[in-house]
Amino acid sequence: MAIKLYNTLTRKKEIFQPIEEGKIKMYVCGPTVYNYIHIGNARPAVVFDMVRRYFEYKGYDVQYVSNFTDVDDKIIKAAEEMGEDVMAVAERFIKAYYEDTGALGVKKADEHPRVTDTMPEIISFIEKLVDKGYAYESEGDVYFRTRKFDGYGKLSQQSVDDLQAGARIQVGEKKEDPLDFVLWKAAKPGEISWESVWGYGRPGWHIECSAMVKKYLGETIDIHAGGQDLSFPHHENEIAQSEALNEKKMANYWIHNGYINIDNEKMSKSLGNFILVHDIIRQFDPEVVRFFIVNAHYRSPINFSDDQLASAKSSLERIKTTYLNISHRLEETAGLGVEADRWTGDIIDLRKRFTEAMDDDFNSANAVAAIFDLVKLANIYLEEKQTNRDVLKAFLKELDDMAYVLGLTLKADPELLDEEVEALIEERITARKNRDFARADDIREELKAKNIILEDTPQGTRWKRG
Ligand SMILES: [Zn+2]
Repeated sequence: MAIKLYNTLTRKKEIFQPIEEGKIKMYVCGPTVYNYIHIGNARPAVVFDMVRRYFEYKGYDVQYVSNFTDVDDKIIKAAEEMGEDVMAVAERFIKAYYEDTGALGVKKADEHPRVTDTMPEIISFIEKLVDKGYAYESEGDVYFRTRKFDGYGKLSQQSVDDLQAGARIQVGEKKEDPLDFVLWKAAKPGEISWESVWGYGRPGWHIECSAMVKKYLGETIDIHAGGQDLSFPHHENEIAQSEALNEKKMANYWIHNGYINIDNEKMSKSLGNFILVHDIIRQFDPEVVRFFIVNAHYRSPINFSDDQLASAKSSLERIKTTYLNISHRLEETAGLGVEADRWTGDIIDLRKRFTEAMDDDFNSANAVAAIFDLVKLANIYLEEKQTNRDVLKAFLKELDDMAYVLGLTLKADPELLDEEVEALIEERITARKNRDFARADDIREELKAKNIILEDTPQGTRWKRG
């Protein structure tokens, strides 16, 4: 069965056709690393990770790239406020991003390029745009000449004239036209900067993704993804930069996820209702947060509340309990039972319902409904005291596969043995002696995640199970 996905570029569901058979080149816009990510940043990380996993489930080889914006106005401002170095701030929040998204079951991308590591490619990209007449230097800044690019507005379906009406030249900008956007910013005194033919400066925000897509994936990719708020101007500008230079379509499919509201209100700085992943995964099992996110179709808006999370928690527990009961039955029985075909036939039908839902623009809400029907079927099997090992294994295999796609683990985590805990405590003591405090902290966190509490006393480190 073919996968259909909703392409923002055409506003239609289209049958997915890869550029190269069996392969997918996918780029997802990543975070600006000046703070912990909030739940709204977590949604694209989780849903596009699920899209990637589903393609893998279908046998595709996915090349997945997602960037870090590690130099930008917001980071410079945050570093100033914290009295820290820009690079140190970025480094810290990149580490936090890996921790938070890792807790949410997001696999690392094949490449996580950073702006500061892509500087030669970014500068050369801008130089070529200048050579082609699509960009111009103005007092150390470089701007993109928006009106020169014919397709401008095609992603957000706005005409250049409509856009013109709302555009203003801001104080300090030295543009030919209010629609032009910045590719390179001249450095202010004392600011972090890189050398270029236009003097010292740093890239504007949009250009990094164009340069990274080209460097890591090529001139045309299969799927470009990001949050709905990025479609304009960020993705529109990426298209303009890349297509002006390469004279090729940048991405065949553009997919965007919907917003997350908090208690039915838009998340905003002024309302002070930002929920950081860092905090919420200390209140709820991160897997529950992940399940809550994938429980809705990625394009629908979702509402985040403690009630919703509590309900996600009990739903996930129902799946896990059935999985565990089936596993136990399998351990206890050597039986062959009867009527295997009827049951395996029903299991295969539910697998089909799961894949049909995912094939239909990654409709994970309907896919989860298919999982619950499989759970129901498994519960009937258990109640009937049936013991056919093939059927029990088929239930486990399908549940495992479906859980993999959604990024959940159904197998219970084995508890750490006392010797394993003590070995980790020894390693932590050695790390601290070597002043490797990062490793020491990691070990403490790792143990905490397994419910082991450490207490450092003058007599040494004590531990207990929490
Ligand atoms: Zn981007």
